[in-house]
Amino acid sequence: MRVTRISTAAAALAAWIASASASAAVDCPEPDKALGVSRVLEIDTSGGPMFGSATKREKEPDFLAEGEVVLTFDDGPVPWVTKPILDTLVQFCTKATFFSVGDMALSYPDMTKEVLARGHTVGTHTWSHPNNLRRLDLDKAKDEIERGFAAVALAAGTDIAPFFRFPGLNDSDELLSYLQSRSIASFTVDVISNDSYIGSAKGIADRTLKQTIARKGGILLFHDLKRPTAKALPAILAGLKAHGFKVVHLRAKNPVVPIATLDAELQPILAKAAARNLVPFYGPTPGPRTADGQDPAVSELAPPARTRLTDPMPAGGQQASSEPLRRRPANVRNRRHRRPHRIAPAA
Ligand SMILES: [Zn+2]
Repeated sequence: MRVTRISTAAAALAAWIASASASAAVDCPEPDKALGVSRVLEIDTSGGPMFGSATKREKEPDFLAEGEVVLTFDDGPVPWVTKPILDTLVQFCTKATFFSVGDMALSYPDMTKEVLARGHTVGTHTWSHPNNLRRLDLDKAKDEIERGFAAVALAAGTDIAPFFRFPGLNDSDELLSYLQSRSIASFTVDVISNDSYIGSAKGIADRTLKQTIARKGGILLFHDLKRPTAKALPAILAGLKAHGFKVVHLRAKNPVVPIATLDAELQPILAKAAARNLVPFYGPTPGPRTADGQDPAVSELAPPARTRLTDPMPAGGQQASSEPLRRRPANVRNRRHRRPHRIAPAA
């Protein structure tokens, strides 16, 4: 009798495991497309690390193995671009990191909530995207950083990652020291899709795949700002899968702690946007899964703090730091600096 009970329990357990495994495997709506997440990297940002190759500053060693990529999107959210990007990421069952702009997130808070609900990681990219923080007064630059984190966290209504990307990749040792003091990690890139400049989806996909193959992976930079990027993404993800690339999903060990006093200033902006309720909200989607529907391995990265020097300002006022790696054309920059709801009135 006892043996029978054990057998029954074992059979039930086996059935449960089989069903759990089957349900994990069908999480991806189109298994043939499943790019998945091969592993999750949880980053302890307390040392203020910097990642990615496109910088002249001291940075951490590459955390990616050959053939691994990280998907990142800057400058959003913009519902009519971010939303189709999220849908494509669901189709391919993979995850990304979004470096959102504060005033965009506050204009479209439901979009920020949806990015998080779909299991992606959200960091920030300043409050209003000045293209070169080095050219601003230091206090103004710090305010851009802090206001960005406060705004995106307020829009999200929950914790966000202490992950930051400098607009135009224009970093400085002084600002990196500041980020370090706030336990914020910064990310440059390894592969630039050039989607800010390439108008055709095919052009963006071709360039991205060519560069990724040549570099054998890396941190990929896109923008959830313009429609051609959203249109290019299915071909890019299909190409990455076809070439055997693996997606690494980043997440933070601890959330950023925004400056509380900024909330009071930002609340009225949020209140206006919330009334518009532009984006339908969908329920949470499953966490990261490998291409065959299993839970990916999670590892932790905790780089120790570096000693960072502040930028010397040589005679003549020339910056000693690196030149901008890319500049946005004036017309695009101006468009982006306006509040999003002026670009397209609330629907
Ligand atoms: Zn940007």
